[in-house]
Formats: sequence, structure tokens, C-alpha cells
Amino acid sequence: MSKETIIHKAESVLLHTYNRFPIVFDHGKGVYLYDTDGNKYLDFAAGIAVCALGYHYPGFDEALKDQIDKLTHISNLFYSEPNQEAGEMILSLSGMSKVFFTNSGAEAIEGALKSAKKYACKKKGHAGGEIIAMQHSFHGRTIGALSVTGTDHYREPFEPLMGGVHFATFNDLDSVKACINENTCAIILEPIQGEGGIYPADPEFLKGVRALCDEHDILLIFDEIQCGLGRSGYAFAHQAFGVKPDILTVAKALGNGVPVGAFLLNEKAAASSLEAGDHGSTYGGNPFVCAAVVKTLSIFEEDGIIDHVKETAPYLEKALDGLVEAHPLLKGHRGMGFMQGIMVDPSVPVGKICSMALENGLVVISAGGNVLRLVPPLIIEKKHIDEMARKLDKTLTQLGV
Ligand SMILES: *Cc1c(COP(=O)(O)O)cnc(C)c1O
Repeated sequence: MSKETIIHKAESVLLHTYNRFPIVFDHGKGVYLYDTDGNKYLDFAAGIAVCALGYHYPGFDEALKDQIDKLTHISNLFYSEPNQEAGEMILSLSGMSKVFFTNSGAEAIEGALKSAKKYACKKKGHAGGEIIAMQHSFHGRTIGALSVTGTDHYREPFEPLMGGVHFATFNDLDSVKACINENTCAIILEPIQGEGGIYPADPEFLKGVRALCDEHDILLIFDEIQCGLGRSGYAFAHQAFGVKPDILTVAKALGNGVPVGAFLLNEKAAASSLEAGDHGSTYGGNPFVCAAVVKTLSIFEEDGIIDHVKETAPYLEKALDGLVEAHPLLKGHRGMGFMQGIMVDPSVPVGKICSMALENGLVVISAGGNVLRLVPPLIIEKKHIDEMARKLDKTLTQLGV
């Protein structure tokens, strides 16, 4: 089928919730994607920070194929070895105490919110736990996750949503303090805000929030669905700030493209929250997705993926310095590790840059606040950063940016 026919047919069957770029991808190799016309693209989006190991990383496909030949699904009424092993590995990487596997990021958020509400309910003897979330946050599109997402136009058409949510200003401790009341059971935030525009937390802010939580017995939820699993140059971004959460959510890179997420509880939260019958998922943590988790995390460890990010990130930041210097309508860049945002002047819609970059063989995406978002596979090398900089420079010059 021609590219045009595929796009036309897709638009006639798929609910139009996305404005897609007119490209039909066919296959990938390493850090490159190929469309159905055979065009090659350097991938600096990684399927929105998912494909941490790029495409066809040595050994990854084989691990999935081996598991498919054994068993893909059994339900959570039984045990499986991949499930047990994946659990052990994610706890050891995160230092958390218990894990529940989900099918997506949003479901990990749902579980985190339920855990916090149950914790408060057990402690106080009644329900009614309220949540503090941040403006410009993004936690997903299900009703609970949407309720704590700090973008009004995402939420408003779906109101009334979950009640008892208060929005504070990210990196403003006084605004968080002002939201606390006797029913507050959790504060949820991304240590590096992703969709909202790539805003790293101020370390003092995180420390202050941690202290507030300790003082008022409030659970601190870190959403590391995007910034976690090596992307920041640390296993988890909060480790860079030296502040630990009570509940942690992960997803995106966890299965390297296989849909899997998780919420993790520390000892305190695990000891007094969800119990048998309180939560469940038919697919969650099935042997197939857990085989992907085990292989992804094994490769991270054996091949030093996180150290590679930490070592190579300064090179990426230098390349971004060069681009910002050469193009006056780029207003700067911010981020950590391989999670970087370039601020673009409001006169140039960032979507236009993404479209033109595609024509130049580079996949980049946007984030809120007219930010160009770079979330490449974690295995990119300096030569790929040079290639990205060349292609982006050409794109910006063409657009007169
Ligand atoms: C992507 C994302 C989510 C939602 O994950 P889905 O798998 O799309 O449901 C939640 N939180 C953050 C920080 C994200 O980046």
C-alpha cells in the first residue's frame, strides 16, 4: 500500500485524538527509523522517551521471542518467574520496597493515588484524602491521572473529575505550604517536568517538599515515568537531588517499547496501604512484559547505559549551546542528561520546526510552552549528537529562526 493510502485509511478508522505527522514508519535499526518510502531518520524522540535502547538492541528481541515461545499471559492469580525477577530488579535499582506492575504510565499514577488515599484512610480511620499536584504537570489521561494534571484545557472538558486536588506552583515551596490542609494525603510531582516543558526541580524545593511531607505525615509521590530509568544520567532523577519519595511511578522506558509501567512503595507506604482485594489488573506484569523489563534492566546494568548518559550529556548540552548561540529565536535550553528542552521564541510555533526537521531526516518532538523536546534513545553516541546538531541547524536556517 502507498503511504498516502495507509494515512487515508488510518484516518478513516482511528478516532482523531492525535494530529499525526504525515509519515508512515516501517522499521528501525539502532537509533534510526525508516519510513515506507525508504527514507532514513535520526530518532531524537524514542517514541516519547520509551525506546531507551533504540531498535533491535543486541539480545533484546531474542529475549522477547524466547518468552513468547514459553508463555505470554497467565493472570495475577498465579506466579511467574519473569514477574518475580522483574520485581526484584526494579526494587534493587530504585531502593523501594514493593512494586505493582501496570500496563501504562497513567495506570501507575492511578495506583499511586489509590495507595496514598488508602494510607491516609487507614491512619485516620476514614476516607477523604486530598492531593496536592503542580501546575504544568502531566500525569496521564485517565480520570484520576487527569485530575492531577496541571494543564487546564486537558482537564476542563471532563469535569467533574476526582475531587480534593489542589494545584501548587512548581519550585515554589510557599505555594505548596498554602495548599496543605488536614486532609492532604499526598503531594505528587515530576522531579523533571516533561510534557509541561522540561523543567527540572530546584533541589531546595524538593528538600522542602520532603520536609513538609515528613512534618505532616503526607506521602510524597515522584512521577518518574518520563525522567526515570537513566534518562537524567541517574537511575532515577530524584537520586540527583538526594530526595527520596514514598511512592514512585515508572513506565515509558521500562519495557523499551513493550507496554509496561509500575508503581513502587517504600517500606512505610507498603506497610499500611493497599491490601488484598484493593487493587488489580488483568494484564499487569504478565510474563511477556516482565521478560522485557528483565532484559531492559539487565542491558542497562551490563552495558553501563546510565553511566553512558551521564558521560555523554555534557556533549549534548554543548551542542545545544552552539545551536542557541547561532539562532537568535532560540531562547536557551534546560534539562538533565538526555532529557533536554530548547525554548523557542513564541513567534515560531515549535510544531513547524518538528515538521521541517522530519523533512531533513530528524525526529524531534515538542513539549508545552513552545519547547523543542529532545529525548533520544539513551544509546546515542557523540556522532549522533553531531548529526542532530547539523540537521537541526539546517532546519532552523531554512525557517529563518
Ligand atoms: C507519559 C507520562 C505519563 C502517562 O503515561 P501513559 O503511558 O501515556 O499513560 C505520566 N506521567 C509522565 C511524567 C509522563 O511523561
